[in-house]
Amino acid sequence: FSDIVEEARLSAQALLDYGESFFNPTVRLGVTGLSRAGKTVFITALIHGLTRGGRFPVFEPYATGRIAGARLAPQPDDAVPRFAYETHVRTLIEERRWPNSTVDISELRLVIDYQRQNGADRTLTIDIVDYPGEWLLDLPLLNRSFEQWSAESLALSREGPRVKLAAPWHEHLATLSAESREDEQATLAAAKLFTDYLRACRDERFAMSLLPPGRFLMPGNLAGSPALTFAPLDVPIDGAAPDGSLWAMMRRRYEAYKDVVVRPFFRDHFARLDRQIVLVDALAAFNAGPEALHDLEAALAGILDCFRIGRSTILSSLFRPRIDRILFAATKADHLHHSSHDRLEAVLRRAVAKAADRAEYAGAAIDVVALAAVRATREAMVARGREKLPSILGTPAPGETANGDTFDGETEVATFPGDLPADPEELFKGGFRGLSSTASEQADFRFLRFRPPLLEHTAKDEPALPHIRLDRALQFLIGDRLQ
Ligand code: GDP
Repeated sequence: FSDIVEEARLSAQALLDYGESFFNPTVRLGVTGLSRAGKTVFITALIHGLTRGGRFPVFEPYATGRIAGARLAPQPDDAVPRFAYETHVRTLIEERRWPNSTVDISELRLVIDYQRQNGADRTLTIDIVDYPGEWLLDLPLLNRSFEQWSAESLALSREGPRVKLAAPWHEHLATLSAESREDEQATLAAAKLFTDYLRACRDERFAMSLLPPGRFLMPGNLAGSPALTFAPLDVPIDGAAPDGSLWAMMRRRYEAYKDVVVRPFFRDHFARLDRQIVLVDALAAFNAGPEALHDLEAALAGILDCFRIGRSTILSSLFRPRIDRILFAATKADHLHHSSHDRLEAVLRRAVAKAADRAEYAGAAIDVVALAAVRATREAMVARGREKLPSILGTPAPGETANGDTFDGETEVATFPGDLPADPEELFKGGFRGLSSTASEQADFRFLRFRPPLLEHTAKDEPALPHIRLDRALQFLIGDRLQ
């Protein structure tokens, strides 16, 4: 019955959206990616560029002068926080610091005035929806029982580098009997140890990506609530939980998590998106090694599955195809020399292609791009011994250290980031030793954070944030809606 109510709600919402979009063409653009992937920076740079005359030669309607202007409009959904654009832009440009990252869903409405190719004046409204990718990876839980989820989580925690990270939680798990009486303290302890394990996996040394339930790491406003206080148990997949048992309690909360967290997110936000960009910090995964890369691949497959769920609802096929374009973007490409940008794209393409095959996905158009929403580095050929190496120049953030030096945030340094292998398979097979190890005399800059750049000046002498391929992303995401 609840499914019918759900469908009815979805159809009402779809009708409303459809009506609104009929009179007022609107694209709901989802921006997601795991924590630190670059969502906040991406949205801030995109809005700044469009409203303040950025340099976007590959974004056709903009480059050909058909876009008269873009402006912010009041945020449309009353129950969703507004994306704090003004604060972020101030931090990024005036203070030259990176803004605070996404921890919850937020939204912003941008209105673009443009001229159609036939000369008619039009407006296109873009509702940008920023949400943690961790929440997206929860959607597959909707068709998993507590017992299935427990079995999968346990199996995963017994693989590769996760074994060690899971040890404290496994130890505690071994002391629990699923059939014993329900026990709040034991549940609290299990949930805490399980969350610690998930967090350890996210540690940049491992950069693991596949970690539901997402709210355990990104609780939003639900921190500490019972719907977030449960953990997997070692129980048979087809077993029945005795009344009043620990097992029954965990299962109840797992179901509550789906009801209170996952379904509303799907209904109110995800099912309403038209376009989606998924930001991926692929460089962090490369540096962590092949395990993390395979994990990332699995997470991308999980994400593509979610889009399939999104399309298979009756309504999306009745009213309009929801999400019909998905862009996977490897962020922070400014950490590499441009000669490696295509290689970075190739690796992502390889990871997504496999995922797409597995999911037998034949819905929306999918593309990949390597980009830097804000380019914090410049390039130069730097002499090293007799060689001249393609290098990048950037100002490390104050307090960053490398080789015993602590940077003051003012000094520019040159680093040789190393090349990505020409054949993406090398990365997946593990033959690759990490970006910076190719030049052993180099400072290990893997985790060196550069300060945001000074503004550059465009042809019209407007100050603009430098970027890499942000315009290509825009062209794919909304170019066709501005014809
Ligand atoms: P979120 O958690 O997805 O919102 O991630 P953020 O947008 O806050 O980005 C996380 C961090 O990644 C930032 O604080 C920056 O250090 C870095 N970062 C993000 N985008 C870029 C980029 O385009 N270039 C560089 N150099 N660093 C970036």
